[in-house]
Amino acid sequence: MAGTGVFEEIIEGDVFKYYTDGEWKKSASGKSVAIINPTTRTTQYKVQACTQEEVNKVIESSKIAQKQWAKTPLWKRAELLHKAAAILKEHKAPIADCLVKEIAKPAKDSVTEVVRSGDLISYCAEEGVRILGEGKFLVSDSFPGNERTKYCLTSKIPLGVVLAIPPFNYPVNLAVSKIGPALIAGNSLVLKPPTQGAVACLHMVQCFHLAGFPTGLISCVTGKGSEIGDFLTMHPGVNCISFTGGDTGIAISKKAGMVPLQMELGGKDACIVLEDADLDLVAANIIKGGFSYSGQRCTAVKVVLVMESVADALVEKVNAKVAKLKVGPPEEDCDITPVVSESSANFIEGLAKDAKTKGATFCQEYKREGNLIWPLLLDNVRPDMRIAWEEPFGPIVPVIRISSVEEGIHHCNASNFGLQGCVFTKDINKAILISDAMETGTVQINSAPARGPDHFPFQGLKDSGIGSQGITNSINMMTKIKSTVFNLPTPSYTMG
Ligand code: NAP
Repeated sequence: MAGTGVFEEIIEGDVFKYYTDGEWKKSASGKSVAIINPTTRTTQYKVQACTQEEVNKVIESSKIAQKQWAKTPLWKRAELLHKAAAILKEHKAPIADCLVKEIAKPAKDSVTEVVRSGDLISYCAEEGVRILGEGKFLVSDSFPGNERTKYCLTSKIPLGVVLAIPPFNYPVNLAVSKIGPALIAGNSLVLKPPTQGAVACLHMVQCFHLAGFPTGLISCVTGKGSEIGDFLTMHPGVNCISFTGGDTGIAISKKAGMVPLQMELGGKDACIVLEDADLDLVAANIIKGGFSYSGQRCTAVKVVLVMESVADALVEKVNAKVAKLKVGPPEEDCDITPVVSESSANFIEGLAKDAKTKGATFCQEYKREGNLIWPLLLDNVRPDMRIAWEEPFGPIVPVIRISSVEEGIHHCNASNFGLQGCVFTKDINKAILISDAMETGTVQINSAPARGPDHFPFQGLKDSGIGSQGITNSINMMTKIKSTVFNLPTPSYTMG
């Protein structure tokens, strides 16, 4: 149960507290934000609505704590991260229970998210010890006109205060994918969790607290993004923003000051299916890629571009699998569970209605109860339909029949997104050519798009993001290079 056992101190009455200066506190605002359970559509939890004054104090403490943390030995930072990872995994059950109730994630997937997050933190610790323990040594005479009179030593130094803002769909995993790299690199961290998913995040933060990190190093402020988001992202005390979410990220990029940005935004991942593809494999991947967590994944298959000659056979295979998907509450570990909010369900319904009006073939009857939308494959989708371009973030997969591979590549590249894509073919030469032609951050050959494993580079082109994630890239992104140059009075060449 949320807020019990080792998590007792994070709640008072029925409102969860925010975390700063190593303590759990109530906001002076006296206001709270309700978290609506997507299944019951009633208030499940409440969190503090933090004030701007509190954000100022949090960032001030964070700044002070960072200076000391940067002087903490790397092995010690790693040791604390390993400890936090172990505590997180030990408490996977109550945290997963929060995910089930806050974001209607199926029960087993919720546990997987917490365990994966613990593994991610440990990997950050190990990778950080390796890559931050090394720098570069350069000599001046490799550049024309110079003798060897200068030795340059470079090392990676922390940026300062990192602001982490994850989205609702993987609140714990996408929070630690920012926290782990930031901390091992010597930064302090301010987390603004998504409102849906905030309580799972607060439990995760308590695991860091129990691990014994220094006071002020990690903070967690809660409140609606629409209310405190701008104040946080435009705060002069923030030295780096790592954000994952939707279009909000584009707005933040325009408003943020001169700080490094890591933006992981939306996607419209295309699945291009060639005539020689293994259609059973494709169908299984469309089900896994398109319908897992009810399609609420940045890397979900969001449009299938299939060669006309194999389209009937593929659609039939996918439909047979859709019929077997279990629809219902997350507690029963159903495949399709309610989408995160009523407004999200309304948006998805709008896309379905638009497709209906414009003549798409509904392979299943459209059905919705509250936030629960039954899985739907839309065949014969055309480019004039909204679903051909927009990200539904729901259990609807559109199929566009194509008469040439070029047509598929053209559709993929005409999108304003460029997160991932996938190609199904047995011809490796074609796969490479198509992968090279697709303007996306990653292309999967013969598998659905996916964010993991968490140490792989992960990045979006165009409106899908700025920079690259993945553990190594995130650690590098959250550091700067510092050089120290030794100037010698006379040239010196080291002899063998
Ligand atoms: P969202 O609405 O953009 O929200 C993301 C986060 O931003 C939440 O924590 C939200 O807080 C916060 N926020 C809202 N307004 C803000 C503001 N003005 N300033 C700062 N922060 C603000 O996205 P979402 O609905 O949670 O997630 C779905 C989207 O995320 C999809 O587009 C999906 O593709 C994308 N996504 C991308 C990746 C990737 O790695 N590329 C991974 C997962 C998801 P509140 O919850 O309090 O509003």
